Amino acid sequence: MKGIRDPKLWPIAEKVEVGERLTFAEGKVLYETRDLPGLMRLANRVRERKHGHKTYFVHSIRVSQTNICYVGCTFCAFQRRFGEEGAWDWEVEEVVAWVRERYQPGLTEIHMTAGHHPKRPFTYYLDLVRALKANFPGVQVKAWTAAEIHHFSKIARLPYKEVLQALKEAGLDAMPGGGAEIFSERVRRQIARAKVSAEGWLEIHRTAHQLGIPTNATMLYGHIETLEERLDHMDRLRRLQDETGGFMSFIPLAFQPDGNLLARKLGKREFTTGLDDLRNLAVARLYLDNIPHIKGYWATLTPELAQVSLDWGVTDIDGTLIEERIVHMAGSPTPQGLSKAALARIILAAGRIPVERDALYREIRVWDRVEA
Ligand code: SF4
Repeated sequence: MKGIRDPKLWPIAEKVEVGERLTFAEGKVLYETRDLPGLMRLANRVRERKHGHKTYFVHSIRVSQTNICYVGCTFCAFQRRFGEEGAWDWEVEEVVAWVRERYQPGLTEIHMTAGHHPKRPFTYYLDLVRALKANFPGVQVKAWTAAEIHHFSKIARLPYKEVLQALKEAGLDAMPGGGAEIFSERVRRQIARAKVSAEGWLEIHRTAHQLGIPTNATMLYGHIETLEERLDHMDRLRRLQDETGGFMSFIPLAFQPDGNLLARKLGKREFTTGLDDLRNLAVARLYLDNIPHIKGYWATLTPELAQVSLDWGVTDIDGTLIEERIVHMAGSPTPQGLSKAALARIILAAGRIPVERDALYREIRVWDRVEA
């Protein structure tokens, strides 16, 4: 492949050319190379082979039914205790009313994640899915991370399989990929000690896939993890994907350094740099050969960097995100939502083809132009 200066990338480029899987050691080379234009070319080669110029986004609303949480992850600025300032805890009807107030025609996806509420019974969550499906027919419900499913399993005293089956019967269409953080035990002990374990997270996604519930996967990076730990995280996802094929996309989430204990402990005030983020996306695109999409989540990257990321392996920039709160409570300086036209314009200006999709990556509309 032309334009690759680092000789260590040459054998990798040969493998990329023929679609051969990269090893862990080759993943490390990708993280260490100084030839960033070369890395970009390799990632772009894979993105164009898989999806051409198509770049996906979804018209979605972000709902968090509560921010009450007992888990205490040290990186989290979202959690609150009962009675604490800024805490909320909605009944099913309040969630429906909140969505109704913000509903826009063409809304495709309700994306719901929240805290681990210590008191709500599992039936509340089933009622919530049923109510959303009944009030907004045709809108897909993509809800609750594996960490929350683990919590439901504890409060209902049911195995993961029964929890997921009941949610599916209530109308759950897909699951987001949060709660994965980083699988390394060393890091998890420091940032998410009381949350579902790495094995639990993987088992819940395995079970969801077996039940026909597609999911996404995330990785929280840019705090105390090593590059090997990032690769180990991707490696475990790659192995599970070989087994089930149920992941739709992989979403690296950059650590947001405001208002959380971890940032205070580390004395960390700065965000990851743009090149850290782009390199990480490119490595993901090259290493995760079996996951269809790498998502450049604009809410943490900024819309501008998400646009640039389309040359670094990214084929999805998430969506309109009406009223995203979780990363914004942790200091993300991006807007709390973008219109479909704004997203399409960002993609078109990068020379790619904007494709509006649903929660399951089915194509809804190709935006070949945007009215001024
Ligand atoms: S990340 Fe989720 S589980 Fe952890 S403290 Fe925050 S809301 Fe609770």
